[in-house]
Amino acid sequence: MSGDHFAMPFSIPSRRAALSLLGASMVAGLTACTAAEGAESPTPSPTDTAAPEAAASATPTPTPTATKRLRRTFIPDFQLPPIVGGLAPVITKIPTKHPIVFLTIDDGNIKTPESVKLMAEYDYPASLFLTRDTIADNPAFFNAFKAQGSLVENHTVTHNINMVRQWGYQQQVNDMVGMQEYALQHYGRRPTLFRPPGGAYSNVMRQAVADAGMKAIVTWEAKANAGKMDYQVGNSLRPGDIVLMHFRAEFAADLGAFRAAQLAAGLEVVLLEDFLGVA
Ligand SMILES: [Zn+2]
Repeated sequence: MSGDHFAMPFSIPSRRAALSLLGASMVAGLTACTAAEGAESPTPSPTDTAAPEAAASATPTPTPTATKRLRRTFIPDFQLPPIVGGLAPVITKIPTKHPIVFLTIDDGNIKTPESVKLMAEYDYPASLFLTRDTIADNPAFFNAFKAQGSLVENHTVTHNINMVRQWGYQQQVNDMVGMQEYALQHYGRRPTLFRPPGGAYSNVMRQAVADAGMKAIVTWEAKANAGKMDYQVGNSLRPGDIVLMHFRAEFAADLGAFRAAQLAAGLEVVLLEDFLGVA
């Protein structure tokens, strides 16, 4: 599974190029805009009331299950675009004014009790984009996350990071449908979201995703990787960001980096499927 996710989605380089063309003044304008939006919030946001709680939960607690709390919910201010012309939409981040962030965790290679414990301690719901061939040795491991509010989504059967280039429509569909059926069998639900291995996608893949019964391709805006955050834009988490990490040996360090960034940005971790209405 080496080389996983080093390739960027095809859309990213062009967007970066476009951003750099906008020039520094435009970037400054966008930053000011964001600050203004935050400042003109007329009523005390629910974040304010949650802040002490968030600060308290940042300190280590000896009994994680004792700190279990009710998650806040947010009324979605974004609607998932429909499938148009047979093509599933592609989501990289969610345009929202709510102070929320979405955590996604991929593959499933490394399965440690520590990762279960940490996710419970932080009470994070996450979209788990799992690959059949990497979880088939112990699919039951992921039930603990599911019991806590996470959902299993589709990251193919074989994790071919070159599937966009090497495979035609039918082979892509087959690799997706195989994971749909596996997830239904082991976790009782058909995935609604798809993450391309390596992140690259195409219109053929968008069609395959729709025909395999899913609602959207989900890429990412930021990564927790090698124990630190890696942002495609800016240097902090922003509302609506979709964050990628992996079930890797560095899980604790990566999740710690994400948690520090999430708390620093004052964002709540919300399940992407809940917000999109595709849970
Ligand atoms: Zn992957």
